Amino acid sequence: MPAVLDRPAQAHPSTSLLRDGRVSIYQPEQKGLIYPELPAFTNVAAQRQHLKERLVAACRAFALEGFDYGFAGHLTVRDPEHPELYWTNPMAVHFAQVKLSNLILADHKGRVVEGRHAINRAGFVLHAAVHEAHQDIVAMCHAHTVYGTAFAALGKPLDPISQDAAAFFEDHVVIKEEAGQVAVEEKAGTSVCDWFKDVKAAIHQNHGLLTASRHSIEAAAFWFIALERCCRQQLLVEATGQKPVMVSADKSRYSREHVGSEYIGWLHFQAIWEHLVATQPDMFA
Ligand SMILES: [Zn+2]
Repeated sequence: MPAVLDRPAQAHPSTSLLRDGRVSIYQPEQKGLIYPELPAFTNVAAQRQHLKERLVAACRAFALEGFDYGFAGHLTVRDPEHPELYWTNPMAVHFAQVKLSNLILADHKGRVVEGRHAINRAGFVLHAAVHEAHQDIVAMCHAHTVYGTAFAALGKPLDPISQDAAAFFEDHVVIKEEAGQVAVEEKAGTSVCDWFKDVKAAIHQNHGLLTASRHSIEAAAFWFIALERCCRQQLLVEATGQKPVMVSADKSRYSREHVGSEYIGWLHFQAIWEHLVATQPDMFA
């Protein structure tokens, strides 16, 4: 029986409409202002192009954050036409060098069906198992980051020590299954995937962080960046030796609902996207 801490008490908060039809309080009520709009597609080719561009941007964002560690780290997004296939970053290519032309498309067994590069089998095993077990999960991120991996050694969930950390309150799990043993076998992925029900993130003990999104690669990438940052902040607070003041459970749930949704993750990523488009045009090569 796999062991886990902090199973969520309730289902993942869904994006519900406000009374005026907006999905978030952040959407301006005033008309005509510049504000990111969710994309709409008229055909699957346009949707695929959009997903691939955002996958590249997510990899570049990970490079900016210093999340690279040799060839470790993988981001996946489900193909819109063939949901059993996933676009992912190529093996042994730095996050900063990922571009449209070197992305690969793979099936759940890790076979490359499009692209010239090899796949990172160890990483893909885990992602593919989660994607297969949860048809609603469209994107996932994983990397061996400094603070996330350090925090994962503690085998405990994040505390709600800030509004930012409250975004993960009852919305992440600590997975102890397969802890510290590199997931090269398919069964490793299968034993981990059960724990991704109704949560957006996982701390894999002695390994690192994982995020999953039912919304977009942008949301998965942003919540990964946010989770790494929260791990860093909690480690900093714990290093003082003083006991932090916790956000209460009801206030944490309120914050999570307003600033921890998939939409909010997507919205945060739009600032990163615009920065990357302006500064890294080789993403589209
Ligand atoms: Zn890993």
